[in-house]
Amino acid sequence: MFKKILIANRGEIALRIQRACREMGIKAVMVYSEADRDAKYVRLADEAVCIGPASSTHSYLNMPAIISAAEVTDAEAIHPGYGFLSENADFAERVERSGFTFIGPTPDSIRTMGDKVSAKQAMIRAGVPCVPGSEGALPDDPVIIKRTAKAVGYPVIIKAAGGGGGRGMRVVHTEAALLHAVQTTKAEAGAAFGNPEVYMEKFLQNPRHIEIQILADQHRNAVYLGERDCSMQRRHQKVIEEAPAPGIPRRLIEKIGERCAAACKKIGYRGAGTFEFLFENGEFYFIEMNTRVQVEHPVTEWITGIDIVRTQIAVAAGEKLPFTQRQIQLRGHAIECRINAEDAYKFTPSPGRITTWHAPGGPGVRVDSHAYANYFVPPNYDSMIGKIIVHGDTREQALARMRTALAETVIEGIKTNVPLHRELMVDASFVAGGTNIHYLEEWLSQRER
Ligand code: ADP
Repeated sequence: MFKKILIANRGEIALRIQRACREMGIKAVMVYSEADRDAKYVRLADEAVCIGPASSTHSYLNMPAIISAAEVTDAEAIHPGYGFLSENADFAERVERSGFTFIGPTPDSIRTMGDKVSAKQAMIRAGVPCVPGSEGALPDDPVIIKRTAKAVGYPVIIKAAGGGGGRGMRVVHTEAALLHAVQTTKAEAGAAFGNPEVYMEKFLQNPRHIEIQILADQHRNAVYLGERDCSMQRRHQKVIEEAPAPGIPRRLIEKIGERCAAACKKIGYRGAGTFEFLFENGEFYFIEMNTRVQVEHPVTEWITGIDIVRTQIAVAAGEKLPFTQRQIQLRGHAIECRINAEDAYKFTPSPGRITTWHAPGGPGVRVDSHAYANYFVPPNYDSMIGKIIVHGDTREQALARMRTALAETVIEGIKTNVPLHRELMVDASFVAGGTNIHYLEEWLSQRER
């Protein structure tokens, strides 16, 4: 096992990884930007190295600074967390070429999955169902583009091969709008992602977002840890996640989960990963794979009893997965609310100093956050300041626990989205379960009126 790991991230996930290291008897090196200098989790680290100014381009995305921090501290491995460099194949390659272990999949896996066209092709070959659409990238020939759209059937969605974060997509309802939409998306994709390639998919009208968590080791073992329902989204950003997904028959989950695990074996995947699907009329359609730990991993940890971050570290060190598929049992129901420093209904960011911080507790309540009273939320990064996760024997009990937890939560000095979560936890449709990916936005626009 590693003796020392460098954590190339910040905020709650940096603390989460640090906790896993502590538990495993591994020393944790924290890198930080000038904006995070005073954060408690930085002080708590065994060692800490400043890697640059507040701007993430010059700190958390600064590959040479991170690698030299690993060199000067004698770290053996680098955990990238999520966001920042976690899905950057060039970074993974540089880490390994410098003699460190990258805690994640191989650079090749990251590269294949990072390009949505090649990811989809790999999934089709591995027998994972995908959204019907163009075979690979769209060519320039307008006749072929029109023919493809007709075959797929309107509405279609034009998506950038290199897209991410909900950007680089355009829905087309009629042939008249098609060519212009393809051209515009191409131009935008070239400018934003440095890759003008686009592809076409059928636009599903009312799907749910269901994802499968997988874990794989370097000995060709791969398992799936059930699913998560992340349909409560705003602007393609997840707000609430839960596991299991309400109302989806277990046999459907098992079938798709087995496909995902088999695909991992086939492509030689290692580490943690997530297969994201749209789910409509009883069918799963693969949209993309995330080759890293996700924000919402705690809901899966709670229903499976498996520590995903710990397992990531263990398999990166070459250990075999300590469980088989059959040993993975799902228990109860878990829900996560992302706590953001923002106006609850206008969504404008609200960085600044937290004056009061009273976190909830009690049975079945977990809070993953690096924040505390007198913590200053820097304006430079994502507005998420933590997560409240609850577990119950049933979904009803989990909902009741989340309501109690949110009622106990007091955060003052900045605005947060806690009031939004309080409302959603008593919303009849959410409580009934099974809302689709448009539900939250529709709910918000109704509320405005
Ligand atoms: P990103 O990498 O930018 O997150 P995804 O491919 O994961 O892009 O898609 C993000 C979101 O866009 C999905 O969760 C869904 O809401 C919507 N979306 C993507 N593809 C389709 C589709 N074929 N039909 C309907 N909605 C889609």
